[in-house]
This record gives sequence, C-alpha cells and structure tokens, in this order.
Amino acid sequence: MSPTVGILALQGGFEAHEKIVRSLGAQAREVRLPRELEGLDALVIPGGESTVMTLGIERDGLAQPLRELVRRGTPVLGTCAGMIMLDRDHLGVLDVATERNAFGRQLHSFETDLELSGLGGGPVHAVFIRAPWVRVCGARVEVLGSVDGHPVAVRQGKLVAVAFHPELAGESRLHELVLGMNGGRD
Ligand code: GLN
Repeated sequence: MSPTVGILALQGGFEAHEKIVRSLGAQAREVRLPRELEGLDALVIPGGESTVMTLGIERDGLAQPLRELVRRGTPVLGTCAGMIMLDRDHLGVLDVATERNAFGRQLHSFETDLELSGLGGGPVHAVFIRAPWVRVCGARVEVLGSVDGHPVAVRQGKLVAVAFHPELAGESRLHELVLGMNGGRD
C-alpha cells in the first residue's frame, strides 16, 4: 500500500504540496480535523499566514493532536508559515525561534539556489515569499542551509522546516526526505 501524507489544509498553499506528494507515488490527504491526522506516514504544514493558521489550529482543536503526532515520531515537513507553526512560540515542537517576514518589508519575495546539507542532487531552487528565518537555534537542531548567515532550513529528528517554498519550484526532495523517515512509524 502506498504511504499517506497529510497536508494541513486549513489555509495557505496546500494544493501544490498535494501534487508533489502524488508525484512521489504517495497518497495525499487534506487534514482539517484531528481524526484526519491518524495513520499518517508523514505530514506537511504548508506556507500561508501564520496568524490565520494559528487561529485555525486553535479553532479546530488541532494543536494537541499535532503535538502528539510529533511525539509518536511521525515525520513532518514545515514550509514557510509551516516552519513558524512548528517553532517554540507556536506548537513548540521544534526548538527554534523564528523571525516572521525577516527579509524585510521591501523584499517580499526572491528566489535563489541553495545547497542543503544531506540533500544530494545539487542545489534546491528556493522560492522565498515574505519568508521567516531562524533567529535562535536549540542545541539539537541541525542547520541544513542558510541565506546571508541566517538559517532557512533546519532539521531536528524527524522534523524538517524550511523558510522557502520547495513545492512552488516543483522540488520534491524534501518531501521525499520526510517520506523516507517513516520506517519507525508508531
Ligand atoms: N509571512 C507569512 C507569515 O508570517 C509567511 C509567508 C509564507 O508562508 N509564504 O506567516
């Protein structure tokens, strides 16, 4: 049976992630309710607006079930606002503090090719849209890539968080990375 990847679909750019997940031969399941988090092989938290996503997570009772999913060892990929949702000040599962809209108000978006450690196959084409960066990094957090000295891709165990949008560039290696971690499912 092909693995199932949940995509948090409260708000933001979840559809592009579904396409990437399906291109890897996995099932994509939109997640809006706590019970839809059950039996997942991995979860993606997409970009969007972190303030709106936070309200949605609270409203729909998803905060605790999301933390439990992480505690069970389910791999998670957070992109852009998804990275913010995982941090110390939101779900509190990834030991980083993020700075929202860190690249400045003028520079709303930019693209760059970024080498990520541990990811073979050449640089990732990274699309940044009003992106955060990681301001403070806990001891267990591995920095996979930075822009101007600011971490924009990090990993802590089975959590991978990037400040950019791999899905908008058709980049599937980060999704593949978290899918490949599901050997220890539950
Ligand atoms: N600026 C948004 C926020 O702070 C994130 C933008 C994105 O996810 N592309 O929530």
